[in-house]
Amino acid sequence: CGIVGYIGTEQAAPILLSGLSKLEYRGYDSAGIAVYDGTKVNVAKTKGRLKVLTEQTHDGQKLPGKLGIGHTRWATHGSPSDMNAHPHANSDESIVVVHNGIIENYIKLKRKLEKKGYTFVSETDTEVIAHLLDYYYRGNPLEAVTKIMHRMEGSYALGILFKDHPNELYAVRKDSPLIVGHTKGGSIIASDVPAVLKYTRDVYFIENEEIVRMTESEMEFFTVDEEPLQKEPVHIDWDE
Ligand code: GLU
Repeated sequence: CGIVGYIGTEQAAPILLSGLSKLEYRGYDSAGIAVYDGTKVNVAKTKGRLKVLTEQTHDGQKLPGKLGIGHTRWATHGSPSDMNAHPHANSDESIVVVHNGIIENYIKLKRKLEKKGYTFVSETDTEVIAHLLDYYYRGNPLEAVTKIMHRMEGSYALGILFKDHPNELYAVRKDSPLIVGHTKGGSIIASDVPAVLKYTRDVYFIENEEIVRMTESEMEFFTVDEEPLQKEPVHIDWDE
C-alpha cells in the first residue's frame, strides 16, 4: 500500500524503515525491505506490523547497503503472509520489485510466463512484474521497464532494483501515487510526501506513465517511449 526507495551515501535500511513508518496511516498487513550491498540483494519481509520487521532486522542493521526499496502491503491478491509480502523478485533474485496497486491482467500474464518456464512462489499479482521484467531484460533496465508498461493493465507505483546496475534505482507509476526527491547525499522515492520530509522539502510529483532513473547524485525522467523529460520540483513548506 506504500512504497519507498533510497540510493545514496547513507545506509538505506534505516531510511526505508523511517519512510515506511510515515506511510503507516495508509493501512497495511505486511511489510518488507530489500537492500543491495553491491554483492547480494538481502530481503527481509513479514506479515504484521512494521515493528516486527524493525525488530527482525535490528533497526535495519542486519541489511547493510546504500541502495534499497521498501513496502507496506495491503493485500489485494493473495492472503497476508510472509511469502506474499513484498519485495518480490525474479527466480535468481537479480530483479527486485515493490508494488502499490493492482495488475488487472495478472492471471493472463502469469499463464503466459508459466508456459515459458517461469515458476511463481507467491499468490500475488505483483510477482508477475518481477518475472515479466526478467523476460524483457537484455541489460537495459529502462527498456525492460517500458516493455512491461505496454503489457500491464491496472495501477502501479513501482520501485525496482537491478542487480547488475548497482548504482541505479528505478521507479515508475500509473494510477498509484509516487514522488521523488534529492536528499543530502542521495535520492529518495515514496508513495507520499510525509515519508520524505525528514530528508527533503523539494519533491517531484511523478505523473502517470513517467519513469525515473536515480543514482546517488542524479535523477532522470523518461516517458514510456524512453524520451527524456524535464521536470521541476515543488517546494513543500507545510510541516509533518
Ligand atoms: N496488489 C498487490 C498485492 O496484493 C499490492 C497491494 C498494495 O498496494 O499494497 O500484493
